[in-house]
Amino acid sequence: MTAAEQAEGLFQELTGTEPAGRWSSPGRVNLIGEHTDYNDGFVFPFAIDFRTVVALGLRTDGRIRVVSTFDPVPVEVALADLGALFPARRDEIVEWARYPLGIAWALLDGRDAETFTGVDIAIASDVPVGAGLSSSAAIEGATASALNDVWDLGLDRIALAQAGRRAENEAVGAPTGIMDQMASMRGQADAGIFLDCRSFDAQVIELGFAAAGLEVLVIDTRVSHAHSTGGYGERRASCEQGAAIMGVPALRDLSVGDLARAEELMDDVTFRRVRHVVTEDQRVLDAVQTLREQGPRAIGALLDASHVSMRDDFEISVPELDLAVDTARAAGAIGARMTGGGFGGSAIALVEHAQVDAVRAAVEAAFSDAGFTEPNVFTVHPSEGARRDA
Ligand code: ADP
Ligand code: MG
Repeated sequence: MTAAEQAEGLFQELTGTEPAGRWSSPGRVNLIGEHTDYNDGFVFPFAIDFRTVVALGLRTDGRIRVVSTFDPVPVEVALADLGALFPARRDEIVEWARYPLGIAWALLDGRDAETFTGVDIAIASDVPVGAGLSSSAAIEGATASALNDVWDLGLDRIALAQAGRRAENEAVGAPTGIMDQMASMRGQADAGIFLDCRSFDAQVIELGFAAAGLEVLVIDTRVSHAHSTGGYGERRASCEQGAAIMGVPALRDLSVGDLARAEELMDDVTFRRVRHVVTEDQRVLDAVQTLREQGPRAIGALLDASHVSMRDDFEISVPELDLAVDTARAAGAIGARMTGGGFGGSAIALVEHAQVDAVRAAVEAAFSDAGFTEPNVFTVHPSEGARRDA
């Protein structure tokens, strides 16, 4: 069953009626540019051919009810109560439901909730959760697109991405940047989104993977990560500290030439966090230029260098990700790196079409030899962003 069929089936179970429409938004893979988004820097993700689907129907009582294939128990609140729930009393809402309800909250903030029609929302997805493919941005993008349409808000894709980020930061409590939402909202077939996270200027850059006979292989280690807690927040704090020491608004304002001075001014750990972000920004710029001038095969070394920087300087890799990257490279991948926030999730490898099976087999064998959980290895294709499907 497709996610669309699941969402519609769930909607019928919930309401006994047909939905008024169906919207979807994709997960994403970040090609390069990790932990640069909240430093006002550059990222280069693409939306993937795995989507989260929202089936939505209107109700007349000013309430919002959400249900997901993740959890058969629907969650329902009055639209007028959202403002009191988020962020102060978010603990009263089961975690997954904070995403769709948080979107409604973010979109209604500053408006008179009483004047909006209630909605029933059923959600299904084929984006793997917690794999670093941003199932969170997919659920946010699908819900935001649906509510934008039925509430006639007239918001553009950037505003919807910002609502997604706000929901994730404040309603869910995960301190993530804007990249995932922008990729999910603005993705296009066969292209990546080169995004300036300060200006939100986004350029659609042709990737040309298919034409070059290349595939992007995702290696989901199944080591689950949790953004709401732990290392992610610590890394953000280190970056803020580094920027403060250097007297700049964000690490984006530093270039590779500033690193010698940074090393003198800060402790070793903070310096290495800063060095990752500053060099990663440069690698994103280099990747875009290299793609344009030399084509996709030439970006492999930048992917490899990005992984090394995350492993050694930012220290967000785990043994499973390192093994995935090293094995893929040894088996012939053009380049490979962990992708997403780190501490688990997925690696990506840029692979010749003819070598996909060999790389997959090598990775599976290496994981088995190491005694790791069997990874989930699959290809992804750059795809269209959020849209109304029916
Ligand atoms: P990811 O890397 O997949 O974005 P996150 O931890 O950021 O990982 O977000 C995953 C969380 O998003 C899930 O634990 C769940 O709370 C919520 N979520 C994602 N997709 C769905 C869905 N289809 N239905 C309900 N909740 C979802
Ligand atoms: Mg996420």
